[in-house]
Amino acid sequence: MNLPHKPSDQVIKYKDLEEVDIKCADCEEELFKLLRVACTSKKNKLIVDCPFCDGRSWLVEVEGDYFQAPPDDLIVYDVYEKDGVIVIELEGKDDGSE
Ligand SMILES: [Zn+2]
Repeated sequence: MNLPHKPSDQVIKYKDLEEVDIKCADCEEELFKLLRVACTSKKNKLIVDCPFCDGRSWLVEVEGDYFQAPPDDLIVYDVYEKDGVIVIELEGKDDGSE
């Protein structure tokens, strides 16, 4: 197959990828992952509430567009903005055992 060269504006450059792990400031459980998909001047501040203790992560400031992903055993329960900071609340997945 002879595909013509087609420029695309949806290119992810791998050198731009940057992964950020957000951990709880109190119990150091891994809470959230951010994967930068584009370098932009967009700035986001976020805090992740910890479902394992009553703590939360440090304030994280990121620049660019990020793909957000909780770890496998957690789901996003709520996301809201407070004083310009995005607060992400997580909860454990219900695995059926009490
Ligand atoms: Zn914690």
